[in-house]
Amino acid sequence: MKRLSRAQRRERFLQLADVAFDRLEVWCDAHPEATFGEIEAEARRQRRELMGQAIAVLINGRDSGVRMEAPRCSRCGEVMQFREYRAKTIRGLEGDTCLQRAYYVCPRGCGETFFPPGPDSETAQ
Ligand SMILES: [Zn+2]
Repeated sequence: MKRLSRAQRRERFLQLADVAFDRLEVWCDAHPEATFGEIEAEARRQRRELMGQAIAVLINGRDSGVRMEAPRCSRCGEVMQFREYRAKTIRGLEGDTCLQRAYYVCPRGCGETFFPPGPDSETAQ
């Protein structure tokens, strides 16, 4: 995901929320006899999925780990080269979030790689 402006991130979130609410509507249509507790359980599932996606928009849309100045190889000191974006899924409290992070390698073949962790990938329990 390329960097998005705040307005673009908001727009993306509203699209995701729109889809999530529609899914709840469809679920309610399919379960007309559902109790409050069952609707709540389904809403929680949808919320978890939505928030996982929302967090991905917040993190990936702000910073994907690309550096203005490439990092240097810790073995030979050579400027490392951007290779690709790699995905990393984090199972969080609010939902599962797929982070897109920039991945760098040393051009001299030292085998050194650099994969910025970005925002703290550990979640509080
Ligand atoms: Zn190197």
